[in-house]
Amino acid sequence: MADNWNFDGLIQDVLVKSNSSSCCDGVSFPDTSRIENPINPIDSVTKEFLKDFEIYLKQLGVVEIAYVDGIKEYFMHGLDFDFNSAVVFSYEISQCIHDVGAGAKAQEYNNNLYRDFGNMTYKISDYLRLRGFETSVAHPREETIDFSHLAQKAGMGAIGKSGLLISPEIGPNQKIAAILVNIKNLPKAESDSYDWIPDYCNYCNSCVRACPHDALILDKKTKTVSFTEELCIGCSEGCTECIKACPFYKKGYEAVFEKYKRIKMKSEK
Ligand code: SF4
Ligand code: SF4
Repeated sequence: MADNWNFDGLIQDVLVKSNSSSCCDGVSFPDTSRIENPINPIDSVTKEFLKDFEIYLKQLGVVEIAYVDGIKEYFMHGLDFDFNSAVVFSYEISQCIHDVGAGAKAQEYNNNLYRDFGNMTYKISDYLRLRGFETSVAHPREETIDFSHLAQKAGMGAIGKSGLLISPEIGPNQKIAAILVNIKNLPKAESDSYDWIPDYCNYCNSCVRACPHDALILDKKTKTVSFTEELCIGCSEGCTECIKACPFYKKGYEAVFEKYKRIKMKSEK
């Protein structure tokens, strides 16, 4: 690997001042970048670079990594950024948030998780900037980009009825962040092998039943679920009931896939 994740010996000339912070529900998540964007950025990567990069991300605690281009349709609230592609990655939600249940304590844990994952995201951005790439951080707590759809397009998994991304390694039990880049030759997502997940959801609906605030409502005729953000206390009180109820969280991806195959075999008889 090219280096470890202590940049201190390398960045004396390019240290940035403290940047602006984002603020959600009175909690701030400052920009902890230490490296300026390069003046003449490069726009392509080698396979060797990506191998080292992914090793670095895994060392930091990232669970899954994917790449995506054509990202502009996922910018939220009319925002626009001069970036065409992104590195998308996930971080597992700590068990303590699930154990404590919705409330002030869960929200404290939730904010700590956002802070740790956010700082990690700035660090990963610094790794790229230091190597000549221009970046912009999409902090996991900021509503700058639709992370679930971005990650789905990147091939990390499929969106379930809870509205959360379900991925093979940790199901819906994840936070997602992204780093916007202008790299032309990032690897493409390989397949649509997660198409069965939304179909399985039609036999399940556990997240809808588990939601204590009717933020998820099933239309029985169309089998679609509507989500009312104003009723959801996931980001204000650390509620994770829809995650805890999900079989992908409780039993794991392979077990659910086996069950899905059995359901389909029965229904085709
Ligand atoms: S986080 Fe809680 S309130 Fe929000 S949709 Fe999930 S179960 Fe419902
Ligand atoms: S709880 Fe069931 S319906 Fe909801 S996302 Fe998970 S698998 Fe889909």
